[in-house]
Amino acid sequence: GPAPEAADHVREWLKAHAAGFGHFIDGRFTTPVADQTFEVRDPARDETIATVSQGSSQDVDAAVEAARAALAGWSATPGHIRARHLYALARHIQKRERFLSVLESIDNGKPIRESRDIDIPLVARHFYHHAGWAELIASEFPDHAPVGVCGQIIPWNFPLLMLAWKIAPALAAGNTVVLKPAEFTPLTALAFAEVCREAGLPRGVVNIVTGDGATGAALVKHPGIDKVAFTGSTDVGRLIREQTAGSGKKLSLELGGKSPFIVFEDADLDGAVEGVVDAIWFNQGQVCCAGSRLLVQEGVAARFHAKLKRRMATLRVGDPLDKSVDVGAIVAPVQLQRIRELVAKGEQEGATLFQADTALPQNGCFFPPTLFTDVAPASTIAEVEIFGPVAVSMTFRTPDEAVALANNTRYGLAASIWSENINLALDTAAKVKAGVVWVNSTNMFDAAAGFGGYKESGFGREGGREGLAEYLVPAWLKSLPKAEDV
Ligand code: NAD
Repeated sequence: GPAPEAADHVREWLKAHAAGFGHFIDGRFTTPVADQTFEVRDPARDETIATVSQGSSQDVDAAVEAARAALAGWSATPGHIRARHLYALARHIQKRERFLSVLESIDNGKPIRESRDIDIPLVARHFYHHAGWAELIASEFPDHAPVGVCGQIIPWNFPLLMLAWKIAPALAAGNTVVLKPAEFTPLTALAFAEVCREAGLPRGVVNIVTGDGATGAALVKHPGIDKVAFTGSTDVGRLIREQTAGSGKKLSLELGGKSPFIVFEDADLDGAVEGVVDAIWFNQGQVCCAGSRLLVQEGVAARFHAKLKRRMATLRVGDPLDKSVDVGAIVAPVQLQRIRELVAKGEQEGATLFQADTALPQNGCFFPPTLFTDVAPASTIAEVEIFGPVAVSMTFRTPDEAVALANNTRYGLAASIWSENINLALDTAAKVKAGVVWVNSTNMFDAAAGFGGYKESGFGREGGREGLAEYLVPAWLKSLPKAEDV
């Protein structure tokens, strides 16, 4: 293995928690009110690794109460002291970097190279960045106040990174939180609860309740929540929007995508091939902003697809803990099944399937890197987010046609544009309706840059100045009498 000591450490940690985890409420792990649990599985080994509590509405009540009780103290804490707490969290995450990387890879199935070199370093970076903001917020956002208690719900594809994107700005701005991790991947959130204790974060500022959609729904509905921040599927996002309508709760939604990856005929084709590897095979394609729709200019399409297929043959699929593996496991059998069904649908629709002759492990949830060419723009696989290692490719003739195809989607999260002609690239970037547009690159994330969608990809931004604004309200709003006082 790559990090044998960290792997041993993770196994010991899991063993020490074999009896199960409680919820993290008011600075300690509590005994859940109801005795309901669910199993967390390692998708690569197809085995149960932990038992976690299914949060009931009473557990959610207790967590919200703790967050409310902590709010007055935390929001009144001077910015430079809040900054010190966020720096401490960042440093403790770095101290545990190896442990957290291995735990994330075992829980989620992502290659250790990704969790170690991308996910966990970005988590630390997010806390460092927002520690800086905690100091600046009073001068940069005068006359603003924290929203209050935030209910935060996150998906399973970047478990700890999505936690960081939610918790760091909320805390920097003086809010307290109740966070619910995804049911497939709650373990690094529980390890983060330990980090909060080690780093000396005041109790009640961060509360973590594990559970499934029912637990999430209880959090969304709770009258003690002032803001809901959700990342996940468009369907659940729509439900949450309905449920919070008229409640006065502030809301931000980060939802799905079917992002275009545009290759013009003057592009550096080898660079663009590497770009596709990053765009759709990073994290097994389970990335909301994955470049899953390749749009290739007709004159170079045959050459580009040939190069891409040769590159696909070199991708190694296998044990996420093996440092040389490029593509790990799909998060869970139900997701694997969904990918299989959509790929079968693509074949029925008449698209041409290519899968390299890649060896797959016998057990576990694995799916090979897959490319569809000859895809019709109105087909299911061109429209639906597959959320797996499957790229679909279409061709275009002119730049206008590329823009029309790129925007022919109900989503608008991200886009990649490949061209050596900077005028063409920037002109196209301005016309593509996507929250993030990368030129000659893809899947680049920066804590200082706002990330978020257009259309059915949601609204609100995470990261940077815009992301912080989501966790603030004008101060005069807070001084209005409450309805019950009028
Ligand atoms: P999901 O919507 O099923 O689950 C996301 C979270 O919501 C989980 O924690 C889940 O328990 C919870 N949940 C489920 N039903 C709920 C309800 N009724 N009320 C409250 N909470 C509920 O999505 P998923 O399968 O975990 O994630 C995959 C999807 O997330 C993809 O569509 C992907 O594009 C999207 N995603 C978007 C971003 C982004 O930043 N835009 C990032 C990651 C993932």
